[in-house]
Amino acid sequence: MLGNTLAGGVDSPVRAGAAVGGEPFVQARGAGAYAYDAGGRRYIDYLMAYGPLLLGHAHPAVTRGLDAIAARGVVFGSTHDDELVLADRIRTHLPSMERLRFATTGTEAVMGAIRVARAFTGRPAIVKFGGNYHGHSDLALLGAGASAHTRDAQAAGIPASTLDDLGIARYNDLDDLDLVLESAPIRGRLAAIIVEPICGNMGLVPPMPGFLDGIIARARARDALVIFDEVITWPRFGLGGAQGRHRHRPDLTTLGKNLGGGFPLAAFGGRADVMRVLAPDGPTFAGGTHAGNPFAVAVGLRALDFLEAKPQVFGHMRALGARLAAGIRAALDRFRLDYAVINLESVVDFKFRTGHATRNYDDQTRADARAYAAYYHEMRARGILLPPSQNEVMFLCTEHTEADIDETLTAFEESLKALRRGPHG
Ligand code: PMP
Repeated sequence: MLGNTLAGGVDSPVRAGAAVGGEPFVQARGAGAYAYDAGGRRYIDYLMAYGPLLLGHAHPAVTRGLDAIAARGVVFGSTHDDELVLADRIRTHLPSMERLRFATTGTEAVMGAIRVARAFTGRPAIVKFGGNYHGHSDLALLGAGASAHTRDAQAAGIPASTLDDLGIARYNDLDDLDLVLESAPIRGRLAAIIVEPICGNMGLVPPMPGFLDGIIARARARDALVIFDEVITWPRFGLGGAQGRHRHRPDLTTLGKNLGGGFPLAAFGGRADVMRVLAPDGPTFAGGTHAGNPFAVAVGLRALDFLEAKPQVFGHMRALGARLAAGIRAALDRFRLDYAVINLESVVDFKFRTGHATRNYDDQTRADARAYAAYYHEMRARGILLPPSQNEVMFLCTEHTEADIDETLTAFEESLKALRRGPHG
């Protein structure tokens, strides 16, 4: 049978849709805000490839004339001008990234940032937050959000010794962070605290006032570094990223997803004195065959050109996000469902759980997974593509329209009705 050779039938576990059951969605193509299945059916796409499609699928600003870029050659193995230009352009928007280096995936960017932090401080321990996702390296997976719940390190192929240098604190909880910082593996050994400055991997969870400042103060007090993982948030939350919203200046930042305009490209960088540990200036290695791939960099430049030339697209997405969130809120009210709806810019989210909005991963794991699964399939049957896991969020792109939102809200109302009737109508 076709597909038997691909392990588990997927290249990334969430795609199998185990959390919602049923047949996994198989996509034939995408155009703008729409995904199409093999039968040619159109879906309004809120998956947006889990974030990178800020401009939607195959936006002409990104895809027009790609053969001219390919004709220059798609990978060099030498330095090229575009990567120098893109690095400078990123720095104008994210001044904390005084020096940066390109990588291919968010996973690698985080690995690079963590290694640099350890080399610079001469210390091994890292503190992260439960429900944040930083890629699939050993250390990053433990306590991770997204679809990467890794409960048993050994069974997951992760050496138990990884925990010797790792602390996992509760998001939005500085008291818990203090406990972790004073715990045996961390105390006196802290290299860095890594955080999603707005979390998008346990649903959408904004930092509570003072949380990010508290992290920075605690790291500074220990001569340790702070890494903002902006793989989702830049430039989705504006060209200044999450750090620009409240003028935070992390020591290191990681970028990915949107950076390549949909092509695989990532980066890590920060303080010039810290980044100086990297070879050839220093003793610390990070690099790769496709690091700064010229094709992906060229596409990334085009995406950035577009966003710089048309900043109004952020306003468009903000308005649509607000319209979608307000419509969902109103429908939930009509059905007397007391679920918190969260919206920031182009991201919208709610969980099947009553009470306050999610603040941390403990809240998130109390959401009703069966209700979400049924809801996912009701929406899909009505031509709306949602993430097949409640740890994810709804992403909008520049190409969504008010009509898309209204169609989604009609499907939402009908889906709630169907859910109320129960599985047998
Ligand atoms: N950091 C964050 C915040 C992410 O959301 C992700 C991917 N979901 C990663 C890192 C890892 O990126 P990649 O999948 O490109 O390895």
